[in-house]
Parts: sequence; C-alpha cells; structure tokens
Amino acid sequence: MVAIPGPSVIPDRVLSAMHRAMPNIYQGELIDMSLSIFEDLPAIARTQSEAFVAVSNGHGAWQMALSNTLSRGDTVLVLESGVFAASWGRMAETSGLAARVLGGRDRLPVDPDAVEAALREDAAHAIKAILVVQVDTASSVLNDIAAIRRAIDAANHPALFMVDCIASLACDRFEMDEWGVDITVAGSQKGLMVPPGLGFVWASPKALAAYENADLKAGYWDWGPRRAKGAHYLRYCGTPPVQHVWALREALDMLQEEGLENVWWRHEVLAGAVRAAVAAWSEGTGIELVITDPDARSNAVTTIYTGDVDPDRLRGLAEAQAGLVLGVPLQGYDGQAFRIGHMGHLNPTMILGTLGSIEAVFVGMGVPLRRSGVAAAAAAIGPSITSP
Ligand SMILES: *Cc1c(COP(=O)(O)O)cnc(C)c1O
Repeated sequence: MVAIPGPSVIPDRVLSAMHRAMPNIYQGELIDMSLSIFEDLPAIARTQSEAFVAVSNGHGAWQMALSNTLSRGDTVLVLESGVFAASWGRMAETSGLAARVLGGRDRLPVDPDAVEAALREDAAHAIKAILVVQVDTASSVLNDIAAIRRAIDAANHPALFMVDCIASLACDRFEMDEWGVDITVAGSQKGLMVPPGLGFVWASPKALAAYENADLKAGYWDWGPRRAKGAHYLRYCGTPPVQHVWALREALDMLQEEGLENVWWRHEVLAGAVRAAVAAWSEGTGIELVITDPDARSNAVTTIYTGDVDPDRLRGLAEAQAGLVLGVPLQGYDGQAFRIGHMGHLNPTMILGTLGSIEAVFVGMGVPLRRSGVAAAAAAIGPSITSP
C-alpha cells in the first residue's frame, strides 16, 4: 500500500471506471460526463467560480494560474512555509515575474501579522499576487487561509490571493468563497483519488477580470478558448484525457455520496489517529511531529522526526518487509524524518494497518518504545466508530 502524500491510493471503483475502450470524443456519453464534471468541480472548492482543467500535474496548474492573470515584470509575494510555495515562486521567476519571498518560520505556519506588515510596506501596490500553500507537503503544516485573507484586507491590498490546495483539497476544510480566495489550484492525485495527470484552477471573478490585461497568457494555458464554450474539446485545448475524465467522474461521485463535510471529518479522525500514535511513540525516543502548533497540523499528511532512528532504514524495511511505501523526507528533512500520507481513499483499517506496520518495524529495529502507537490510534478512532 502507498501511504505517501500523493499519488494516493486509487479506489477500485475509480480504477474500474477507467478500464474502458475509447469512446466517441466529439459527442455522446463522454461529453455529457465531462460537462457534469465542470458543473460539479466548484462545489469541491466551495465556490461559485468556474474551474479550468489542465492535462498536467500540479505544476501545470501553478503555471496556468500565473500566466492567465499576471504580466511580465509583475511582482508576486511568496509566503514561504516549507518547500512548495517557494517552488511556485521560482516558477514565477522563470516565467518573467519577480518574486519577493516572505521567509517562513521553522515548524510553524505562515504568520498573518507578517503578511500584513509586508503588504503595508508595499504602498505602491507593486505586488500583484500573493502565493501560499494551504498545506505544505514537506513539513505538513496547515496554513490559516482565512487569517491570511484578513491580513490582506487589513493592509487594504488589492493583490490576487492564490492558494495551492494540491495536497489538501478534499482532505482539510477549504472554503474558497467564504475565505476570499481569488485563485485555487489543485491536482488529481492526492485527495481527489485520481491518477496524476489533471491540474485544476478555480478562478474568481476578480481573477477573470485580471485575465483581461494579463500579458503572460500563452497558447495551451490560455483561459480564453477554454471559456468560450465552443466545441467541447477546447475546454481541454485538445483531446480530452478520456480515462481521467471517467476516473474523476467516479471519484466525484464517491465524494458526493459521502458528503464533503463527512470526508473532511473522516480525514480529521484518521489524522488524529496518526498524531496519537506519534505521541505514544515519542516517549523517550525523540520521535515527534514536525509541526508544533496543534492547530497547524494537516489532516492530509504528517511529517515525523525520528530522533535516533534512521528514517531511511525505517522506510526501506517497511517497503521490503511490510509492503508499505512511506513518504520520503523532502528538502530540509533529509535523514531526520519520514512522512505518512493519509489523504483520499482511506479508512480505519488502512490507517491502523499503516501504523501497525510502522510500529512493527520500530520494534524490529530495536527502538525502545514505551507505549504502543497502535493502541493509542485505536483509542483515538474508537469514539468515531459509533457516531453517525
Ligand atoms: C504535490 C504538490 C505539488 C506538486 O504537484 P505535482 O502534481 O507533483 O506537480 C505542489 N504543491 C503541493 C502543496 C503539493 O502537495
């Protein structure tokens, strides 16, 4: 089983939905299904705004967001909180933009007060967009998007507010409209339970207005022909990614059947089990959560410091002996940490199996655990088993 922060486990229903011969791509069932996807995507990001679909990974969605709303020489403010916002900022720079980075804080989320201060300093409004991730997949920090919006408003700054929800969509609560997000970016292979290959961008009316004057607009990424509502294939700027359309339809059906609120709640319960296990393992071992603030921990992914335990050996044994693929540490955590992805298609059996296998490897490696993480995880999940 993969317990990495994307690509995540693909449900059998989604895999089966993809196993079909090629259809007519100009009319009939595929087009109807694709149209229904465009209708249903706004609800997943809790917005009235329309979604654009790129045949790409998350990086493509980043590119689409930047190129349709900004112009050569514009400045973006990057709110660093680990690895991913900074990478998005570097993409901005290689795309003809200037990136100003607000440095992050170790093991903590973006500081909204620092955002407000940085924006107040920009009295001339050189900053045209603010880039942040809801969840940084390297550190597993959860940024407070609503609080950052309040900071932008307090500074009375007009920049577009762009949020990368690639790791967190359909895992951690996200309210695009209520929180005043102008652009939301996501990918198919994490909480959405679809293979890698689709990038999503939701664009608010303010973002669509910015499109009119953006000069970074470029061929494939251009929203114009995609919005024109001509031949359906133009929405994809070419042949629809047929198998992904079927997969996404099935995954959206699953999310709708469960209900987004329930999906978030399930993630909260299962992430709580992971955190309970780490707390039990931590006693006397140096194993601990990277993120220190309990309100800033993602329900999609958890990064764990391993103290004296070699995390690479842990991952190697878990994969070779238990068939469990754990997340590698990203930049800044080499040799010190590993990650558990708990996003998308996940139930108590899968998470208890994951934690039980990790615990077995700890025991095999001779780690002197004082308490069982599995017992703590079961105790954390227990009360939810009998709730509706
Ligand atoms: C996975 C991830 C990305 C990159 O997505 P790709 O599909 O690999 O391009 C970007 N941002 C965050 C927060 C992610 O978790």
